[in-house]
Amino acid sequence: MFFHVILTTECNLQCRYCFGETMEDFDEDFGDFDLDYSLPKKANYDMAMLSEFCGKDADCVVTFYGGEPLLCTELMKRAMDAVKAKHFMIQTNGLLLDRLEPEYVNRFHTILVSIDGDEALTDFYRGKGTFRKVVDNLNLIRQNGFNGELIARMTVTEQTDIHKQVRWLLHNSESPFSSVHWQLNAGFWGNDFARRDFNRWSEQNYVPGVEKLAESWVDQMAHSGTVLRLYPLLGIANSFLTEKKPNLLRCGGGWTNYAIQTDGNIIPCPTMWGMKKYYLGHIVTAHPLKLPRVLVDKVPCTECGILGVCGGRCLYANITQRWSREEYAPVCGTVKGLVNAVEKRLPQIRSLIEEGKIRLSDFDYLKYNGCEIIP
Ligand code: SF4
Ligand code: SF4
Repeated sequence: MFFHVILTTECNLQCRYCFGETMEDFDEDFGDFDLDYSLPKKANYDMAMLSEFCGKDADCVVTFYGGEPLLCTELMKRAMDAVKAKHFMIQTNGLLLDRLEPEYVNRFHTILVSIDGDEALTDFYRGKGTFRKVVDNLNLIRQNGFNGELIARMTVTEQTDIHKQVRWLLHNSESPFSSVHWQLNAGFWGNDFARRDFNRWSEQNYVPGVEKLAESWVDQMAHSGTVLRLYPLLGIANSFLTEKKPNLLRCGGGWTNYAIQTDGNIIPCPTMWGMKKYYLGHIVTAHPLKLPRVLVDKVPCTECGILGVCGGRCLYANITQRWSREEYAPVCGTVKGLVNAVEKRLPQIRSLIEEGKIRLSDFDYLKYNGCEIIP
């Protein structure tokens, strides 16, 4: 099982699509969910409890999460010293990576670092100077011997040219990545659709950009025998090539990838913190292998022809329905565009495998590593 351990609810950035949206989100409909406003800002349980909980699952993978988890380095180190996890991972904005000693950084199997593309775009979304500090820190941890997987985790909205920015992350000379994942900021907030240009942008910019990316992804396989780890493309290609379609959420939320709140309560996914209806147990009393499942069970997903390959995109979005069905339709259009971009290139990919240019195993990855696959 995979567990996001929310070390703190606090963050040291005020990004447009997170902090900025929180300030604008006055949707009264969300009041239907009974929210817990008394959660501690920092994890307030003894790390021995987390150790005991994870110890009941030999394959327990722990991903530190926040807020910004590196605001709690001492707590994190205590957890890493106490818990016998199969792997440790972290999702971080990267600003404080230089404050964690290499002996801990180098124990991470995977680091997902928030970076949205080049300097201008990253600083536009995340604040001036963010890009430079993050890139310096990434170069530092590489120098200090980190050799796990470093995944650039982009948040994508209408200012993003997906083709240009992913290509930049792959090929820039300052801090090139070989693994990139992206997530659309879509369907997570209550009243943003009306003031945004999501529909036009997704059709005219995003979906054609994904199509171009898929083309250059396969070109690179043909020319250099390299399968770049562009997670949305990789995950879907993996499913088609191995004939294992998920049917369940690809992020694992609610069935194999849970989150532990700062008070020790377990929830289906980190975005659902404080939603009391979805408290599934507490680390002191629950068994990691016997947690209740919370599955996508609402329209439009339950009536969707590509649920088998999509998996439902996002449990939080499906449960909260922050965007109406009409508003959510273009989000599903992006899923269809992505699946189509991969599916039509399968014959070429299969030929490259048969010719020995690439291997089927090049499409393997650690599932539920924080890349939701469907953006
Ligand atoms: S494409 Fe849309 S409706 Fe279909 S399963 Fe995915 S999120 Fe649900
Ligand atoms: S895709 Fe949705 S359900 Fe899955 S981890 Fe992200 S926010 Fe949670």
